[in-house]
Amino acid sequence: MVVTYCTAPHLWPGFKVSTAAYVNSLLRPEIIRDLELPRHGFELLPRSPSSFTPFPDGRFLLMGPDKALTRQEVAKFSARDAEVLPRYEAMLERVADFIEPTLLQTPPNPWSLRPKNLAQLAGLAWRFLKLGKDGPGALEILTGAARPILDRWFESEELKIALATDAIIGAMASPTVPGTAYVLFHHVMGECNGVRGMWGYVRGGMGGITQALASAARAHGAEIKVNSPVAKILTRRGRVKGVALEDGTEFQARKVASNVDAHVTFLQLLDDGDLPTEFVADVKSIDYSSASFKINVALSELPDFSAVRGSGLAPNQHLRGTIHLAPTLDYMERAYDDAKYGRPSTDPILECTIPSVVDTTVAPAGKHVMSFFVQYAPYELRDTTWDAVKHRFADRCFDILNDYAPNFKRAVIDRQVLSPLDLERRFGLTGGNIFQGSMTLSQLFFLRPLPGYADYRSPIKGLYLCGAATHPGGGVMGACGYNAAREILRDR
Ligand SMILES: Cc1cc2nc3c(=O)[nH]c(=O)nc-3n(C[C@H](O)[C@H](O)[C@H](O)COP(=O)(O)OP(=O)(O)OC[C@H]3O[C@@H](n4cnc5c(N)ncnc54)[C@H](O)[C@@H]3O)c2cc1C
Repeated sequence: MVVTYCTAPHLWPGFKVSTAAYVNSLLRPEIIRDLELPRHGFELLPRSPSSFTPFPDGRFLLMGPDKALTRQEVAKFSARDAEVLPRYEAMLERVADFIEPTLLQTPPNPWSLRPKNLAQLAGLAWRFLKLGKDGPGALEILTGAARPILDRWFESEELKIALATDAIIGAMASPTVPGTAYVLFHHVMGECNGVRGMWGYVRGGMGGITQALASAARAHGAEIKVNSPVAKILTRRGRVKGVALEDGTEFQARKVASNVDAHVTFLQLLDDGDLPTEFVADVKSIDYSSASFKINVALSELPDFSAVRGSGLAPNQHLRGTIHLAPTLDYMERAYDDAKYGRPSTDPILECTIPSVVDTTVAPAGKHVMSFFVQYAPYELRDTTWDAVKHRFADRCFDILNDYAPNFKRAVIDRQVLSPLDLERRFGLTGGNIFQGSMTLSQLFFLRPLPGYADYRSPIKGLYLCGAATHPGGGVMGACGYNAAREILRDR
C-alpha cells in the first residue's frame, strides 16, 4: 500500500507548530488501541482547567474537567447555573450514548430496502426510542441552534459564552443559526485518556498523531511518500487504475482511497467525463461555506492577562486550556453579521491555545507557541481579497488580545497567518472549510458526502473516499478512515 500526502515545513527553529488543528479528543479510542499508537509515540496530555474566558469587566471563568472547580467558578456568575450544569452535561452524555455507536458504523442507506439496511435503520430507531424523554432534546441537538438550548438551561451570559464558542467552530454560523447545536455536541463527543468530553494536547504537537500513525502503518508494511501531490486519479472504463503524481510518477492500483474532499477528488483529480453528469452536479452543490482563520505565533513570554492578577490562581493555571475571547452573546452575533455580508468581523471571536504551557517539547526553553483560531473570516469577501487584508485582520485579532493581556504584542517573535484561502491552497480544503464540507444536518450521516454515497464508495469502481468529507465528518477522529478501510476490505 502506498500513502501519499503533503507535509508542512518547520516554521521556526526549535518550535513545533500545529499548523491547522491544535487540540484533540475525538481520535477514536478503538484506533489508538488497535494500532497501538502509544507504542508508536502517541501521547495525549490532558488540560486542566480546560478553558479560561476573561471578560472586559475584569472577571473570568475557568471550566473543567475538575467538577468542583467548575462548580465554584460557575457559581461566581450564577449559583443556579452551577446546580444545573451537571444535569445539562448528563443530558449530553445520554445523547452521546445514542450517537456515539454510529461513529464507527457505515451509515445505512434509507433509500434501499435491503434487509441489512432495514435492520440497521430499525436498530437506530430502537436506540432512539430508548432515549425516552431525551428524544425531543436529541432531535433539537441534531437540527437546532445552540443558543436557544443554552438560554433554556442557563441564565449566566458568561457561562453561555464559554459553552457557545464550541458551537461555531468551523461553521459559517452564529449560535442562533440552526445546525450549531450539533457542532457544539460534536465537540463533547470525544475523550482524553478515558475522560469523556475532555480535550488534550498531543505531545510534540498534532503531528504527533500522524507520526504515530505513520510508524504503525510502516510496521504493517505501508510505504509512505510525503510531499508527493497527486495530480490525477487514473481510471479506465469506470474502474480506478491508479494515481499519477504531479512529478509524473504513476502508481497502478486496483483500489484508491482519497482523503481529500469530494470537490477535489471528483472535480479536480478526475477527468471530465469520468463521472455521471448528475453526480458531478451533486458534488458541485455540496456546501463548503466557512469563516475560519488561523494564526500561529511564536512568543518570547506568556501573555499576562489583567483579569487574573491578584486572583490567587497558581502560575499559568489559566493558560493550560483554551482561552475564549468574546465578551457577550450579542458580540458573537454581530461578528457573524459582518461575515454574512462578506466582511471579516470588525470584532472577531478568538479561541487561543498555548500548548507550550503543558508540553515543553513544542518551544525552546522560556519561549512559547500560541495558536489563534478566529471566527468569522468568510471565504467569500465582497469588496476585497484575503491576500490583501489577511494581515490587517490578524493585527485586529492581536489588538483584541492585547486589550486583555497588555504585554502580548511585544512578546510576539513571529507569526504565521492562514486565511480561509490559504487553508484551501495549502491543504486542499475547498472553500477553506475545515471539515471538508459543512457539518449541517443536510450533510451528515447518510447524507455525507452525498445521498446514496455514504458507504465510502463512489461511482468509480475501486475509488473510495476516506476523509472528513465522509461520515462522521470533521475533527481529528480517524473514524472516517476506519470505516472506509472496513468497506474496502469487504470489497476484496
Ligand atoms: C485551521 C484548522 C483547525 C482545526 N482544529 C481542529 C482541532 O483543534 N481539533 C480537531 O479535532 N480538528 C480540528 N480541525 C479539523 C481537522 O483538522 C480535520 O477535520 C481533520 O484533519 C480531517 O482529517 P482527514 O485526514 O480526513 O483530512 P485532512 O486532514 O484534510 O487531510 C487531507 C490531506 O491531504 C493532503 N492533500 C491535499 N491535496 C493533496 C493531493 N493532491 N495529493 C496528496 N495529498 C494531498 C493535505 O495536505 C492533507 O494532509 C481543524 C482544521 C483546520 C483547517
